[in-house]
Amino acid sequence: MNDIILSELPLAIGCSNRNGLGNFCVGCYLQSIYYPESSKLVFCRGCNWQICKEGCPGVSDPERHAQECAILKGGKDARFHMMGEVLPIRCMLVQNRNPEAWEMMKEMGERALKERDPK
Ligand SMILES: [Zn+2]
Ligand SMILES: [Zn+2]
Repeated sequence: MNDIILSELPLAIGCSNRNGLGNFCVGCYLQSIYYPESSKLVFCRGCNWQICKEGCPGVSDPERHAQECAILKGGKDARFHMMGEVLPIRCMLVQNRNPEAWEMMKEMGERALKERDPK
């Protein structure tokens, strides 16, 4: 039996640096080994992070990559950054998009820190 008990959209999505799966497209999260052969080395025109192909819909989507693109643009050599660095930025951007959810995320973070270091 596979009943859905709860279904909720995430506030932020990102990939870990430690998954050993290589790079992902910052627009749609497609793993680089699945990129079309013709676009193995395509980079976002805004920030120079790796994307799966020209015209990836996630790159220009204001709910996805477009919101962090201007921030990532400030990096020195973005080609060598790892996807794990994007998730904290996306979490920080929640405070602009959804201040109520941001407060909840802050409380969860503070609670997790206290549980890890209860001094
Ligand atoms: Zn993509
Ligand atoms: Zn970009």
